[in-house]
Amino acid sequence: MDAVRVLYLGGLERSGTTLVERAIGELPGVVPAGEVVHLWQRGLRDGERCACGEPFGRCPFWEAVGERAFGGWRNVNAERMLELAHVVDRTRFLPGLALRHWADRHRLQMREYTGYYVRLYRAVRDETGSQVVLDASMQASLAYCLSHDPEIDVRVLHVVRDSRAVAQAWAEQAGGVTEGGGTPHFSPGRTAMLWNAHNAAFSVLEPGTSRAQVMRVQYENFVADPVDTIRAVARFAGLTLQPGDLEYLSSSSVRVGPCHSAAGDATRFRTGELAIGQDDAWRTVMPDAQRRLVGALTAPLLVGYGYPVD
Ligand SMILES: [Zn+2]
Repeated sequence: MDAVRVLYLGGLERSGTTLVERAIGELPGVVPAGEVVHLWQRGLRDGERCACGEPFGRCPFWEAVGERAFGGWRNVNAERMLELAHVVDRTRFLPGLALRHWADRHRLQMREYTGYYVRLYRAVRDETGSQVVLDASMQASLAYCLSHDPEIDVRVLHVVRDSRAVAQAWAEQAGGVTEGGGTPHFSPGRTAMLWNAHNAAFSVLEPGTSRAQVMRVQYENFVADPVDTIRAVARFAGLTLQPGDLEYLSSSSVRVGPCHSAAGDATRFRTGELAIGQDDAWRTVMPDAQRRLVGALTAPLLVGYGYPVD
């Protein structure tokens, strides 16, 4: 049976990935499935809402997918998926995962785990007649697991954003960084370490250790030229575009329709025009000392990704 093609969106949260996800999700031939890694718990077990507004268990799209993939969701044990994820899909286990020779038991668990994904992706693809399933699960570890399943043709889009912009975004979410203000929950130093760990984990997908193809995109380049970036992503995903296929995109916005993204942040509920613009607040709002601290802590990868450190 032919491998199901999956475009896997990876990166640290608040790196602009949500907007990139919505822009890719509108490409003809692509079906956006949301953050599939969270579907088992948040959708299936906890009944969180699909992007269409219905609780997961009452969404007709996911009901049809469940029938097609598993003969009904009643045949999927969400707890078993969480148990398997705990064993095989953990970012902190990556050094162990990257060893060429896994124990047989581990290999079987990995196969069982990715087997659920294969059936799900295939059902999502066939239910919609799409060519590519978009999974925005973000984590390198799942991409690595998927890349070892010959029934999945996984292509990883790693979205990176300047660590200082990400630190500012996390600080704002937690209440804001001000010159004389209180300490936000996500301090710039902590975000810097998260940024390093999360992005560095994608190096495990380098050729030689996995079958995944990887494309890296700077969020800042997407914002500077959304049309050009999405055209390149479409090519990477193996899609052939027709004239007019990117008309939903302009240099400053993306027009999005309703979808059945199963898990993710609240942006998945939005439809209509979403603005695309540089958010450079960190350059002026972030205290100098914190900006320099984040720059210093993340310098090796920043330089590797082509960002100026100072
Ligand atoms: Zn739905």
